[in-house]
Amino acid sequence: MSLNGTYDPDNIFAKILRGEIPSAAVYEDDHILSFMDAFPQSKGHTLVIPKVPSRNLLDTDPDILARVTAQTQIITRAVHEAFEPDGITITQFNGAPAGQTVFHLHFHIIPRYTDSALGAHAGGQMADFEELTAQAAKIRQKLPE
Ligand code: AMP
Repeated sequence: MSLNGTYDPDNIFAKILRGEIPSAAVYEDDHILSFMDAFPQSKGHTLVIPKVPSRNLLDTDPDILARVTAQTQIITRAVHEAFEPDGITITQFNGAPAGQTVFHLHFHIIPRYTDSALGAHAGGQMADFEELTAQAAKIRQKLPE
């Protein structure tokens, strides 16, 4: 997938936005949805996406990007409070050669724990949905009112 392709309305995050497949939602407003990564690289791995379609950072409206990054900071703080990791990695991939596998802009919030190795990116086993829902609730409790 090149950086300049057209947006595929049937990508997995578009389906989540339309409610066609379930997600363990953390936060939602008119512009943004945040939910747990279904193949988490660590406990509390969370994704933040805009509702407006764009493939990556390059083709995203700057105002939307600003909203997504600001909300990513707020959710990262809540993830920090919820799981007390030793570090937190934020990633965002543009194009398949860079590691992008879902072509709808998203930011990863990946808690890091000194005593536990990071799981593979976009691989491994699908997490238990109930466990993800419980983690999402834990993060939600730490979000500002
Ligand atoms: P990227 O490789 O940066 O495009 O990230 C896509 C992410 O979406 C990966 O971390 C996947 O584990 C995650 N993912 C794939 N399918 C789902 C899904 N149905 N629900 C939640 N996360 C997903």
